[in-house]
Formats: sequence, structure tokens, C-alpha cells
Amino acid sequence: MTLTTHATLGAVIGHATGNSALAFVLAFISHFLIDMIPHGDTGLADSYKIHKRHKKRALAYVMVDAVAAIFFVLLLANTRDIVSMRTFSWGIVGGVLPDLIVGIYEITKTPLLKWFNTLHFYFHDFFVKRKGDVPLYYAILAQVVLIAYLQTKL
Ligand SMILES: [Zn+2]
Repeated sequence: MTLTTHATLGAVIGHATGNSALAFVLAFISHFLIDMIPHGDTGLADSYKIHKRHKKRALAYVMVDAVAAIFFVLLLANTRDIVSMRTFSWGIVGGVLPDLIVGIYEITKTPLLKWFNTLHFYFHDFFVKRKGDVPLYYAILAQVVLIAYLQTKL
């Protein structure tokens, strides 16, 4: 899923729990569960490894994804009366952290994080490997709808 989706879901979880530690843990777990829904980025990740032009495209996708997520989180933080900025923040941190760890693994290839990377993609590819992926365009549209719904819960 996009980082904006993970961040928004994390924020909602943080809001619902009202407890920082619980917000972090549940949002962290939510990342794996929502990533199981096929969301169009499998081709992106695989072509990244094959072709240089695709590599640029995958990197651009990650950059746009990350900056869009920052903007959206700032938009929420500045336009809503967030009851607890602490649980809001811990929810977001838990929601996006798995992808940060995967990114660090991709850069460093450290054996320390290999197991985490494997775990992440076990969930991420769970249905995609069995049923195939959906087109990225539709997946992003679906996520825009999901985010529009989730932000009403804040
Ligand atoms: Zn992920």
C-alpha cells in the first residue's frame, strides 16, 4: 500500500486506541494485514531489479509516495482537532515503520534485517503470488477512496 494509506490507517488506529504503545503495536501489525490486499506494486518492485529505466521509475514512485504521505499527515495535523497528537503520531510511526525497515534492508542488505524483509514480503505477496496483482492505477484509485473514508474517522 502507499505510505499515505499506511499513515492514515495508523493515525486512525492511534485515535481509536488512545494509548501510544498500543497505537504503535496495532498500527505496525495493520501494515502487514493491509499489505496483503493486492495493490498493484508487484511489477514495480520486480522490474526494479531488472531494468535501469524501471529502476528510476520505481524510485520516483517511492519518492512521490513518501512526500505525498508527509503532506497528507501535515494536512491532517493542521486541519483537525487531533485529540492526542501523541497517539496520532505513534500510530503513524507504527503504520509506516515496516516499509522503512524494508527500505533500509534494500539499501544495506544487512543480514540483521533479512528475516524482517522476508516476513514483510510473505504478507505483501501472500495473495498476489496466488491470484495475481491488480493494475497499479486501479489500486491507487481504490486507496484514494479508502483514505477519504479513513480520514473521516479522525
Ligand atoms: Zn509494506
